[in-house]
Amino acid sequence: MRMGERKSRASGSDSRRVSRCRICRDRNLTRVIDLKRTPLANSFLSKPNDPEKWFPLEVLYCNSCGLLQLSEVVNPNLMFKEYPYRSSSSNSMLQHFRELAQSLSSEFITSSKQLVVEVGSNDGTLLSALKERGVRVLGVDPAANLARLANARGVETLPTFFDSDTADRIRDERGKAQVIVANNVLAHVDDVHEFMRGVSSLLEADGILSVEVPYAGNLNQNVEYDTVYHEHLSYFSVHPLLRLFSDFDIRLERVARLDVHGGSIRVTGRKTNKKFVSNPFVEFEKRCGLNRLETYQRLSDRIEYQMQDLRETLESLKSEGHEIVGYGAPAKSTTLLNACKIGAETLDYVIDTTPEKIGKFTPGTHIPIFRTERFQKEQPPYCLMLAWNYEKEILLKERQYTGQFIVPIPYARVLSRNSSS
Ligand SMILES: [Zn+2]
Repeated sequence: MRMGERKSRASGSDSRRVSRCRICRDRNLTRVIDLKRTPLANSFLSKPNDPEKWFPLEVLYCNSCGLLQLSEVVNPNLMFKEYPYRSSSSNSMLQHFRELAQSLSSEFITSSKQLVVEVGSNDGTLLSALKERGVRVLGVDPAANLARLANARGVETLPTFFDSDTADRIRDERGKAQVIVANNVLAHVDDVHEFMRGVSSLLEADGILSVEVPYAGNLNQNVEYDTVYHEHLSYFSVHPLLRLFSDFDIRLERVARLDVHGGSIRVTGRKTNKKFVSNPFVEFEKRCGLNRLETYQRLSDRIEYQMQDLRETLESLKSEGHEIVGYGAPAKSTTLLNACKIGAETLDYVIDTTPEKIGKFTPGTHIPIFRTERFQKEQPPYCLMLAWNYEKEILLKERQYTGQFIVPIPYARVLSRNSSS
């Protein structure tokens, strides 16, 4: 048995219902978003009639610390043991990680003996860039397929979940880490206290914790309801994160907003026992209302409106007899397609570049997934950009496309033909 599985509270059953806040343990939780039941975002089907597991997709707001979190925690073994998303799958993500490697190594690494550990290291993209800079690295990722890829490219990666046992083992075998990176992984973690215990135990005094998470401020601002899926247990703003960090003597030193994944934040913390300080970002969040229940109740209405608008846009094109396809089958497309009830009656097919997805069918909506080449050859008149967070990259790549893209977020809009040239 791997570490992490043993401690997963969901192990043994497919899911558990949340009754207390993941960060502050308060029971005063209010349901603010209800996207109904959907299958798991990455549970692509080999055959359209394969059996599927459906789970409620609801977001709760903690009235005590302000954390947004799912009402249902699905057993991580159902989601993360084989994982189709690869960090290296887009040029913008490659560039993003190269820049991060550059800034981490120049700012925080002063000796070749110092260790950087990345939790959720995926296919080793970031660590490989750090290694090229002469930095000692170690990856941790529970997805066996990704850990294999990373190890094959020379980035040593432990195929396991990260918890305090894993952290202690790394510390005993290799010493403490100067930097721990956790990009797009904290939102996946149910027991964040156990995760932070591991961080705290593995990190050098004065060491750095660098965390990237999709930002609740972007979810709210741009109505990015499709970033809600079962892998994302939490939707962070800075305020609850600050509280979590300070509980483990990590002082939040910096917050940066990033364009990746539809809008994320990078929070940089330092392990210190010096007095905890607040962050100006928290004041900004108060002005945006991110610490108020009403903000998310309003968001729920905006989501309903936006989904209806997209459905009507597509239905009107279909009623005029136009063919529509989908561009990209990212995890978020499972939420969008299922929540809006867009299936094979609307989209003829979806294209993607990830080898593991090609030839399969979208979860719940059973739309076939083909290679990009088919789209480029057939030039369908309309194309729903499901991977809308790569809009610029897609428009550049598909500048020969003669049809029109429909971008669903932050509101449904049909791009004019020449905007992609
Ligand atoms: Zn809370």
